[in-house]
Amino acid sequence: MSSGPNPFVIGGGISGLSATYYLERSGITATLVERAPRLGGVITTEVVEGCVIEGGPDSFLAAKPWAMDLIRELGLDTDVIASNDDRRVTYIWKGGRLVPLPDGLMMMVPTKIMPVAVSSLLGWGTKIKMGLEYFHKPGEGAGRDRSVADFVAEHYGQEAVDYLAEPLLAGVYGGDPSRLSIVSTLPRFAEMEQRFGSLTRGVLAARRQTNSNGSPGGGALFKTLKGGLGQLVDAIRPFVKQVRTANVEAVERGRIRVDGQWADASHVVLACPAHEAARLVSGVDARLAELLAGVEYASSMTVAFGYRRQNLHHPLNGFGFLVPKRERNALVACTWVGTKFPFRVPDSHAVLRCFAQDGADVDELRRDLERIMGFKAEPAFTRVSRWPRSMAQYTVGHAQRVEEIKTRVARHPWLHLAGNAYEGIGIPDCIRMGRDAAAKIAKSGQ
Ligand SMILES: Cc1cc2nc3c(=O)[nH]c(=O)nc-3n(C[C@H](O)[C@H](O)[C@H](O)COP(=O)(O)OP(=O)(O)OC[C@H]3O[C@@H](n4cnc5c(N)ncnc54)[C@H](O)[C@@H]3O)c2cc1C
Repeated sequence: MSSGPNPFVIGGGISGLSATYYLERSGITATLVERAPRLGGVITTEVVEGCVIEGGPDSFLAAKPWAMDLIRELGLDTDVIASNDDRRVTYIWKGGRLVPLPDGLMMMVPTKIMPVAVSSLLGWGTKIKMGLEYFHKPGEGAGRDRSVADFVAEHYGQEAVDYLAEPLLAGVYGGDPSRLSIVSTLPRFAEMEQRFGSLTRGVLAARRQTNSNGSPGGGALFKTLKGGLGQLVDAIRPFVKQVRTANVEAVERGRIRVDGQWADASHVVLACPAHEAARLVSGVDARLAELLAGVEYASSMTVAFGYRRQNLHHPLNGFGFLVPKRERNALVACTWVGTKFPFRVPDSHAVLRCFAQDGADVDELRRDLERIMGFKAEPAFTRVSRWPRSMAQYTVGHAQRVEEIKTRVARHPWLHLAGNAYEGIGIPDCIRMGRDAAAKIAKSGQ
């Protein structure tokens, strides 16, 4: 038996990296096992012809503190950049046109009357419903779990589902609002419904609260790093003292099997996707494995088309566009990278980053892009990143599933879970879950 704790962290994405980093900071060296030849998981940054190309995530929500906390600790704060919010316009493809999302919308919640009233995105029936929603009172069952589609339809009608909630969720989570849970995917809206009845009143009250707290109300929604999120992975790397490129095959109390060999392990942090965690714990806790296997995942891909700027005749006057399912061929969303973020694309170039379901045909995506944006040009480069079963989907009932998972895991004090399958899909939440797993191990003293 070894004298001190010898925890293993399985998975070298941001969740596992965060767990390993925080363990190291508390004086415990973990062994990180990652089966891919590189660390970072879905975070990958490449520089092509001077353009910073993100293959996976490109930014994180500034309102959640855990990414910024880590970035500050790593001394990267001077490299933090914000999205160019003064140039924020997101378009929706509707009826053969790119229609701007009305100003003042918070996802699908309107907070200003005039921009919605004059917008051609929504019909008068929806606009009137949106206005009347202000007078909703918390009804019986307010805040209960149901699909995002049902929730939005109850507040604003089906058109708001089709042209706001669906494209926004498909573009962010690769998700289907008729399957996703409101409580787990958009918990703040479920809470607002419970408290105020009306989401518009909830959002306005939250905004007043933020302003009266003295926090900068107009702070950027998204932040990232100048050199791309790969910078975060690179900065954590020196704190990963023991890393193995290998496939973990099973975990048990006190040991794990890596590439056919058993190794002692005081604790195990499973920071891999839940379907993988399910396989690894199947010999220890069959019910836990079943619960983990039940977390659904979506497969997605990003394709970055890089152009010489002089060949792309388009003003790129916004952050990009979303294509609602009703109008969709292959392309789900596109970011105009150089407009959304500074430092990413030199003036000589333009980068259009497309988001689609995994398996989409790259030529077809390009045809969609040219048709929607109305240009024809040969890309100078194309970069494709595929992410099979990488994005967890919080379907209706997810919160109960996670509660049961936590109860089962508590029976195995040596076992810890972190990752986007549980309590937050974005980078800040993944960092928080990794950090919390590290804190539990450090506290256990073994
Ligand atoms: C295309 C895309 C865009 C996104 N955009 C954003 C965004 O802009 N902002 C944001 O906040 N979030 C975004 N997300 C979500 C966020 O990036 C992810 O939820 C988060 O990075 C997941 O990190 P993770 O460490 O939990 O998992 P992963 O990054 O998936 O890492 C898990 C790792 O475990 C390894 N592994 C699995 N099984 C084993 C095994 N048996 N043995 C050893 N290793 C194993 C895998 O190889 C992998 O490297 C995006 C996700 C995707 C896919």
